[in-house]
Amino acid sequence: MLVEDAKRLLVFVAHPDDESIGCGVLLQRVPAALVVFAVDGAPAGYGIEGKFGSLKSYSAERFNEAGRALRLARNSSFRRLNTRSGTYFPDRQLFAHLEEAADSLVSIARVFLPDAIVSHSYEGGHIDHDACYLLAKHAADTLSLEHFEFPLYWKDETGQDVFQKFRNTQEGEISLNPSQTEIATKNKMLAEYQTQRDIVAMFSTNVEKFRPVRVCEYGEPSRNFSYPGTWRSRRDSRSALQRFSEFRHGR
Ligand SMILES: [Zn+2]
Repeated sequence: MLVEDAKRLLVFVAHPDDESIGCGVLLQRVPAALVVFAVDGAPAGYGIEGKFGSLKSYSAERFNEAGRALRLARNSSFRRLNTRSGTYFPDRQLFAHLEEAADSLVSIARVFLPDAIVSHSYEGGHIDHDACYLLAKHAADTLSLEHFEFPLYWKDETGQDVFQKFRNTQEGEISLNPSQTEIATKNKMLAEYQTQRDIVAMFSTNVEKFRPVRVCEYGEPSRNFSYPGTWRSRRDSRSALQRFSEFRHGR
């Protein structure tokens, strides 16, 4: 099965904007899509409160943007993962709540009944993206879904930023060949993300790559990771990796 052949596609991403950057064309092609966002998109410690009043209002604005962006893809809607107490998972902290997040993802998928799930590739770039990779694998295994991944960003050995390329070569990689209309719509989707304007501008709108996930591969992030709030700034990166491993192997 190719990712484009999905009839009901669950797009599982960490943050509002990941889906439009990575899958904005794909979302226009599939008959029905549900985007599931994993975290609240409002990391503490970056002075966001000053600009938006509170982390909560910043988060709310990001999800307003997602709603507007996804309306442009016509057949897409979104849901958010919930903790057991009904709150949202905090940005950058998903790795600490994997079992709870997995329960939420699987129960959303059981209602939507997708035939495929597409999510982040494991990149060692953003820790929430990497957590989503593991959660998507878990949901795909639990519900016997086809599982696909897409690349966003990471750093290579020399410290160069790499965008929208997989970190290694594997079979089955495809690139969508978007039409001008699809690109125009994707640009409109991305333009809805005003709070993320600078980040969104770094990506190319006519590149969308996907490939099937056959084996679960994850490990140490690259040494030159330097994205804000991701692996680099984590003094606990070893324990975060340990959490991934415990989740994957069911303790
Ligand atoms: Zn993201």
